[in-house]
Amino acid sequence: MFRVERSMAARLGRTLGMGALMLGGVVAGMKGGLQLEAGTIPMIAVGLGVTGLVLGRFLRESRCSEPRCGATLASGDKVCPRCGGDVVGVIHHPRERLAAEEAWRRAHPDAAEPDAAQSTPAAAPPAS
Ligand SMILES: [Zn+2]
Repeated sequence: MFRVERSMAARLGRTLGMGALMLGGVVAGMKGGLQLEAGTIPMIAVGLGVTGLVLGRFLRESRCSEPRCGATLASGDKVCPRCGGDVVGVIHHPRERLAAEEAWRRAHPDAAEPDAAQSTPAAAPPAS
């Protein structure tokens, strides 16, 4: 498998922004809650969202590229702690996985691939 390494900017920004919006909705819905002017909550949400975008640029997350796994990897992990797959490369988006796997297989034609049988039947040697 591959390490999918991405900046957390987009996710953190969305999480903080949406969180602020929902929290704001709860606060605004409470009787006797904070008296916020209309428009304050969206502004806080946007502010937090931007803060998340900025903070996220400094944070990176690494995940297992296996779609069924997706475990978070520590920066030094050579083996996935959940599915046990070997980390053979780094990609920056899950969409790159298939291309990266193909390239890796071409570079390592003799390597044992645990799930080769189910994912690429065409690559199996013809039975004769
Ligand atoms: Zn994994």
